[in-house]
Amino acid sequence: MDTKSIKQFAKLILKFGVNLQNGQCFELSCPVTEYKVARIFIDTAYEMGAKYARVRWNDEKVDASTYLNADEKTLTNVPKWFVLSKNELVEKNFCYVAIAADDPYAFKGVPEDKIARIAKARSKALKKFSDTVMANGIRWCVVSVPTLQWAKTVFPNSKKPEKDLWQEIVKTMRLDCDNPEQKWQEHVDNLIRHASRLNDFNFEFLHFKNSLGTDLKIGLAENHVWLSALEKAKDGVDFIANMPTEEVFTAPHRLKADGKLYSAMPLVYNGNIIDKFSLTFKEGKIVDYSAEKGYSTLKGLIETDSGTLRLGEVALIGKNSPIAKSGILFYNTLFDENASCHLAIGKAYPTTIKNGSSLSTTELKDLGANDSVEHVDFMIGTDDLTVTGITKNGEKIPVFTDGDWVI
Ligand code: ZN
Ligand code: ZN
Repeated sequence: MDTKSIKQFAKLILKFGVNLQNGQCFELSCPVTEYKVARIFIDTAYEMGAKYARVRWNDEKVDASTYLNADEKTLTNVPKWFVLSKNELVEKNFCYVAIAADDPYAFKGVPEDKIARIAKARSKALKKFSDTVMANGIRWCVVSVPTLQWAKTVFPNSKKPEKDLWQEIVKTMRLDCDNPEQKWQEHVDNLIRHASRLNDFNFEFLHFKNSLGTDLKIGLAENHVWLSALEKAKDGVDFIANMPTEEVFTAPHRLKADGKLYSAMPLVYNGNIIDKFSLTFKEGKIVDYSAEKGYSTLKGLIETDSGTLRLGEVALIGKNSPIAKSGILFYNTLFDENASCHLAIGKAYPTTIKNGSSLSTTELKDLGANDSVEHVDFMIGTDDLTVTGITKNGEKIPVFTDGDWVI
């Protein structure tokens, strides 16, 4: 990665992603190995008028050693300073960028159930923070840069895996052109068009079907709103929470999912891979599940709380998105979820309900929007996926045929 292209990447994210404002504080969460990227982000943030810019370093190797060696009681007791440091981001209206570049095998050898219990304790401790983030209380953006172990997983036969992965990231970020900002504007407008068509239809149900065996009817929450890339934070400033992003998404009804789904791609969760899994739903609840790989990780996720037994997001992505067309399995949800229609287990985004950010959890639940300490996306879209919208009058409208938009 050369300095010039990282600088261009940082500029695009700070401007279009978190939309850093003059005089605002900024935090970057970054793997320690990518310190060069961090330095460029911090310099760029100050150039753009940041009042204060800082880095939250993380290191999977340290985490893996800690998970393996420290006792569970210590690790499930989440330190107060950590929770306070997260809540401070909200209190001081920081915007933050998180670099997601995990090694999919980072926690190999650590018992999956131990990781699941630590993750659960952490999610619980950070519930207030994650609720605020999911309601767009602050502006945030998740992005990726290649780390060696991740790149090796994506390109196992390459001599320069990090370079190859960076090239793909540049393409999916629409940085391989003269005017990336204009390209993003066009892309965002296109997604908004799809979202507004779906909002006009105001479907009651979506029916997903494909040759993997997925046959699932999902009810949508009352007063649901279809959203896409561009969102508005509480302070009225626009931002994009994921870059890249290709999705148009909304809230399913927590009590209305019936049928069975099969995963279309592996899911990396807490440093473990869950693959070839199925979920069976009855009245919105997961009543049965299986996985050829990572069964106990899936079990840990589903059993986190009562909300992880239900759905919190339904997202549509056409098979002709640049990420889908690359045909690459990224082992990273940020990319893989943008290659394929996906659902999420756990909490629904309050923003996917009309006026949702100002409603209480109980009010949101009454409308069908799910609550949980978790929100985990997984992919179900295939090249032959059909999605049929069913209106309140029972009219059936094709939304996707052969894995792509038809409305
Ligand atoms: Zn999504
Ligand atoms: Zn999601």
